[in-house]
Amino acid sequence: MRVTVPEPVLDIVRRLEAAGHEAWCVGGALRDAALGAPASDVDVATSATPEQVRKLFRRTVAVGERFGTVGVLDRAGTLHEVTTFRHDVSTDGRHAVVAFGASLEEDLARRDFTINALAYHPLRDEWRDPFGGARDIHARIVRAVGRAEERFREDYLRILRAIRFAARFGFEIEPVTWEAMRAHAPGLAQISAERVKDEWFKGLGSAQAVSRFASLWRESGAAAVWLPGLRDVASHEPAVSAAPRDPVLLSALLLPDAPEALRRLRASNAEIARVERIRTAPSEPSSAAPEAVRRWLAAAGEAADDRLRLYRLGSGRDAPWADAVRVAREQHQPVARRDLALRGDDLLSLGLRGPDVGRVLDALLERVLEDPSLNDRERLIALAREVR
Ligand code: ATP
Ligand code: MG
Repeated sequence: MRVTVPEPVLDIVRRLEAAGHEAWCVGGALRDAALGAPASDVDVATSATPEQVRKLFRRTVAVGERFGTVGVLDRAGTLHEVTTFRHDVSTDGRHAVVAFGASLEEDLARRDFTINALAYHPLRDEWRDPFGGARDIHARIVRAVGRAEERFREDYLRILRAIRFAARFGFEIEPVTWEAMRAHAPGLAQISAERVKDEWFKGLGSAQAVSRFASLWRESGAAAVWLPGLRDVASHEPAVSAAPRDPVLLSALLLPDAPEALRRLRASNAEIARVERIRTAPSEPSSAAPEAVRRWLAAAGEAADDRLRLYRLGSGRDAPWADAVRVAREQHQPVARRDLALRGDDLLSLGLRGPDVGRVLDALLERVLEDPSLNDRERLIALAREVR
């Protein structure tokens, strides 16, 4: 099979080989090409050392020189990763110490899954596939390279990567690989929260079926370590998978204690605050009547839209009160203090003291929630005089 490799990558391979080094295209782009997907960023693996790579190209940036990766910028400023062939010297389940001076075969042998361990020579149209990756791609199987047990012990994150690839491509996980994943899932406790979060979010974004992705997390034992209580959403397919993928919202749907889970994953403060708000907000109004819906909007605040989206994910249809929300918004009906047609300053000039302002604003909001037509500056000032 011929793979279309972007011209700048061909240039990189040509230049490395002209200088007497070996250079091959490797990694996920070949897998994607074999699946008929457009080749994304094509990584280059080479026998040249990082220093040799840096000297051969005019514009390079440090990407991960410790791991042998140099970023080469092409004329358009696009970065291409060029990584020196390496083999693992030692591993501890979390990090690897790598050494250069390896062969292409050794470099492929340290990769995680057969589907990710292909090499393609774009000038000679030649393949290296020592682990049967092409066969597994066609059979739609995720299989560890070499002895699965060892490979997961070397780097437990591979358990989550196997799940992500299986869910993304709709592949089965080969039985020996799967058993090794289950046996070693407790080792995931050693992995840094940032790497786990990255896998969780990426997987939610790329899975063909979110419910299968979640099942694999659960059944492998990965969820027990990082996401206890992870729900089965099989009954919510396909609504969940058809919706725009929002990993934070999906976390709120899938996890009984999403704020705690996202804290454990060291998600950003904004992400944690968002699931907190979703959890605190009332899930639905007491009825779909306009006033009840306005009160719900007031109580749900910023979480209202997330609550509507969650309803949709859970049921596959719009919430029964979604129309009332639309109407309230089209008519700019006041549902928060900031929507009131008067300011705190107006109240201060009535002679109210600072501490009373909040209380009076809330009382006014209460009145306009009942009757939006009262939201007029003169009227509110008159009302404020009454309730002060
Ligand atoms: P994606 O489309 O998600 O980027 P990818 O296959 O390109 O998929 P990367 O994480 O970009 O995945 O890694 C590039 C390649 O490096 C992989 O295809 C695989 O060969 C190798 N690799 C990445 N992470 C590991 C790991 N933890 N253990 C072994 N090999 C790995
Ligand atoms: Mg990649």
